[in-house]
Amino acid sequence: MEIKKGLLFVVSGPSGVGKSTLIEKFLKEDKNSTFSVSYTTREKREHEKEGKDYYFVDRDTFLEMIKNGEFLEWETVHDNLYGTPKKEIFNALKKGMDIFLDIDVNGALKIKKAYPWACLIFVEPPSKEELKKRLTLRGEKNIELRLKRYDEEIEKKHIFDYNVINDNLERAYKDFVKIIKNVRELRYGKNHC
Ligand code: ADP
Ligand code: 5GP
Repeated sequence: MEIKKGLLFVVSGPSGVGKSTLIEKFLKEDKNSTFSVSYTTREKREHEKEGKDYYFVDRDTFLEMIKNGEFLEWETVHDNLYGTPKKEIFNALKKGMDIFLDIDVNGALKIKKAYPWACLIFVEPPSKEELKKRLTLRGEKNIELRLKRYDEEIEKKHIFDYNVINDNLERAYKDFVKIIKNVRELRYGKNHC
């Protein structure tokens, strides 16, 4: 029997650019996909839900998980630890589900190195000023800390398989879906989606 395997989509880009907005919209419409919920030591935002947006853990728990080899990759981002759990990803892929990761640029490149077949999508804002506006609207406390990484992240965008500019959300979403459909066609053939 053929072992059905899903696809791994890694979505990266500066904090506040709209990665979760694009992924959430897609997951509402697509039942063969799921989201990889990361672990983090950062504080929970008011609207966030444990187990849906992140698993919020303390530093000691996170360090123990590193020691036990529970992460596919992990990084320090904006002074906090973030990690992608192995188990959930492999379970989803084995079931034939496509899985979406929303992780930072360095984490994405680590995934690509380990799994060259992963599809890396970089989401870019129209400008740094617009990004600042979105972070402000989101009520972000550490805006300067987040903008500090901006230039370093943008510099690495050419390493990604695909780029999406999130200026107008409707247009960016169309581009995002087109990329996913293209990758699926390459993998599963024309009649898949
Ligand atoms: P990320 O997951 O990349 O950190 P979010 O998806 O949380 O970013 O988006 C940050 C903020 O920007 C949210 O308030 C979201 O509603 C808003 N946003 C997303 N895309 C756009 C867009 N194209 N134009 C204006 N605001 C946007
Ligand atoms: P935020 O605190 O805004 O939710 O996320 C900050 C940054 O951490 C974002 O760029 C987000 O994509 C990234 N991130 C979230 N989860 C992970 C993860 O598991 N691994 C890595 N490397 N980055 C992550």
